[in-house]
Amino acid sequence: MSVAMAVHGGAYIIPPVEREPHRVGCTRALAAGLALLDAGATSLDAVEAAVATLERDGAFGAGCGSALNADGEVELDAGIMDGRDLRSGSVAAVRGVPAAVALARAVLKSHYAVIVGDGAHRFAVEHGIPTCESAALISEREYRRFHAATGDQREDWDRIMFGDTVGAVAVDADGHVAAATATGGSPRKPPGRVGDSPLVGCGLYADDARAAVSTTGHGERLIPLVWAKAAADLVGLGALPQRAADAAVDILARRDVRGGLIICNSTGAIGVAWNTPQMAFAFRASDGATGDGPR
Ligand code: ASP
Repeated sequence: MSVAMAVHGGAYIIPPVEREPHRVGCTRALAAGLALLDAGATSLDAVEAAVATLERDGAFGAGCGSALNADGEVELDAGIMDGRDLRSGSVAAVRGVPAAVALARAVLKSHYAVIVGDGAHRFAVEHGIPTCESAALISEREYRRFHAATGDQREDWDRIMFGDTVGAVAVDADGHVAAATATGGSPRKPPGRVGDSPLVGCGLYADDARAAVSTTGHGERLIPLVWAKAAADLVGLGALPQRAADAAVDILARRDVRGGLIICNSTGAIGVAWNTPQMAFAFRASDGATGDGPR
């Protein structure tokens, strides 16, 4: 069967100068994932590779483009899930790990499901996942933003809608789906704050019998909606991914929250929807349909 993949690079008010870098970064990450899928790799390998590409890019709020926390440091969250057997791995509030998604994959392979903080960093060292000095992940752009933020911007994240979390969903030639999501979280978050992104059912979900989903948006408000699982359940009930994505966005009204999501089912149909001014994404469905944004 034909493979399919979608990636996203966040949904918020993407500043005009950043729109093309976001679109190009998503297109590049999609190509990295599709190259693996087209060569017969699993969807799990493909979503990890695509998200790692986005974490390396620098344009997005993940990996080396992450927003700084209240202490001026980068703390990362990531999750990955295999729709074949419902195994998952997540890490949260980890410092000094450039590819948090690779660390989440190492957790998935282990007996554990979630590892956080200093323990997650130690887990990376023990499992051969590349680490770096925490300060090496501070980008010039985010350093400037951190020091330029005014009192209002420090508090009102929902109004500013910074949120370029990254994610990927895919189906491989065997019909297995997978999802991954990675983020540096919200600007000036307190150290130790964890949003929806690494939480199974919230920031990601994957089940061959339903769909693979990766989400982005205001974590504190999204967590109670268990949004990724809610969207996957709609596909499980018979909705095509685009219809499920649109219906999932309607759920956001319950918490007056803004965000976006990507969905891929086991036959390679794709859905993308958001209620923010822009969303960065790229996809290729199994029928060859393609799309990207923002433009
Ligand atoms: N959901 C992420 C968080 O709350 C932010 C984002 O999607 O950009 O950490």
